[in-house]
Amino acid sequence: MSLSAIRARANAAATAAGRDPASITLIAVSKEQPEARVLPVLEAGHRIFGENRVQEAAGKWPGWITRFGPVELHLLGPLQTNKARAAMELFTTIHSLDRPKLAQTLARLAQDMGQCPQLFVQVNTGAEPQKAGILPENSDSFIAEARALDLPLAGVMCIPPASEPPGPHFTHLAEIGARNGLPCLSMGMSDDFETAITYGATHIRVGSAIFGART
Ligand SMILES: *Cc1c(COP(=O)(O)O)cnc(C)c1O
Repeated sequence: MSLSAIRARANAAATAAGRDPASITLIAVSKEQPEARVLPVLEAGHRIFGENRVQEAAGKWPGWITRFGPVELHLLGPLQTNKARAAMELFTTIHSLDRPKLAQTLARLAQDMGQCPQLFVQVNTGAEPQKAGILPENSDSFIAEARALDLPLAGVMCIPPASEPPGPHFTHLAEIGARNGLPCLSMGMSDDFETAITYGATHIRVGSAIFGART
C-alpha cells in the first residue's frame, strides 16, 4: 500500500511549486480494484475515493461505508442520464459534467432531491473524438448554461491525450477555469500528478500508483 508515499510525493511537488500541500485533494481511484487492496487504504484512514462507474460503485461502497463510516466519493467516468439519480445519491462530487442534456437532468433532479453533488465540467482539451468532455471552444458557454441552471460548479476537469505531454493541456484547463471563475482543477493521474500540481491541480486522481495495476 503506497498511499503514504504518493501523499509524500504530492506534498513535495506542492512545496516545490510554492503551494500549500493542504490545498491538494488526493482522490484514491479504487475502480476495478479488489477489496483486499482497498481495505488497507480505508484502514489507514483515507476517506476520499474515485470510481468510474455508478453501478460498480453502488455495489461496493454502501458496505464499506457501513463498516468505515462516511467517505467522500468522486465519480470520474462518463455519466448517462438514466443513472444520474443513482449517481447523485452516492457521490459527493461528479467530475464528468460535459453536455447540456446532463446539466438539465442534474438540475431537475437537484430540485426534486433538494441536494446536488459538487460538479466539475469535463473539458476534452485534446478534442479527441472518442473521449468524453465538452470541446474547449464550447466550454465558456456551457459553463454559463450550467450556472444559469443553478448547478453547484466547483471546477473543471481534463484527461490529456495519452500520446502527448500533459503540460499544455493542464495550462489550457487552468485558463478555462480562471476565466470562468472556477477555482478547482481536477487533473493529474498516476503518471503525471506531480506535473499537474506544478500547473495548479487542486484535485489529483491517482489509481494504479496507490493500489497497483488494475486486473
Ligand atoms: C482510471 C482513472 C484515473 C486513475 O488512473 P491511474 O492511471 O490508475 O492513476 C484517473 N482519472 C480518471 C478519469 C480515470 O478514469
